Amino acid sequence: MFEGPFSESIIKRAQQKGLVEIHLHQLREYTTNKHRKVDDYAFSGGAGMVMMIEPVANCIEALQKKRSYDEVIYMSPDGELLNQKMANALSLEGNFIILCGHYKGIDERIREHFITMEISIGDYVLSGGELGAAVLVDSMVRLIPGVLGDETSALSDSFQDDLVSPPVYTRPREFRGWGVPDVLLSGNEKLIDEWKLEQAIERTKERRPNILTD
Ligand code: SAH
Repeated sequence: MFEGPFSESIIKRAQQKGLVEIHLHQLREYTTNKHRKVDDYAFSGGAGMVMMIEPVANCIEALQKKRSYDEVIYMSPDGELLNQKMANALSLEGNFIILCGHYKGIDERIREHFITMEISIGDYVLSGGELGAAVLVDSMVRLIPGVLGDETSALSDSFQDDLVSPPVYTRPREFRGWGVPDVLLSGNEKLIDEWKLEQAIERTKERRPNILTD
């Protein structure tokens, strides 16, 4: 599931440049039972399997012996909602373990004793934590200095400065009679900056009034 997101484009280049290391760990390798089982029936009964504590505990402890981690994150629909501020803060840290649940979720004792942070990517339920983890990793890695070609590029994206991004245009100047705003062709940097800010404020009011600060 991680092959696409982690081996293409920006995340791929970040790893090639040595700016980030991503290691995948297969929980089955940390089982002690014969069938390498990582899930079992819930004590409460009812539909859905639950991920067992033992392989997860073994895996986390084995990793923690090799390096120290700033956070042990569990991807969970009831976790703290991921936003740009969180991605910014996390991108400044060093090492993370990100645990992906499956089925009905993980044995609650894992959350109580091993997890230091729980993150959700939105109020909906996914089949597993992997897509959420890929979203989280992408949002953090692109903020690491040197990952994006143009250093200022991440800072001018939506949600930095509590604004969404202004509209952008590229060539041709006219397509089917649809032009681009004159100011962008004026070459006047001050006017262009003013226009961008105005547009960003307008858009934020219209689309994301909740993030506007005074
Ligand atoms: N029974 C759980 C859902 C389990 S979904 C509940 O109702 O809350 C299986 C796994 O997918 C979870 O353990 C979690 O790791 C992951 N997951 C599902 N939705 C997610 C979301 N919105 N954000 C992050 N991870 C999610």
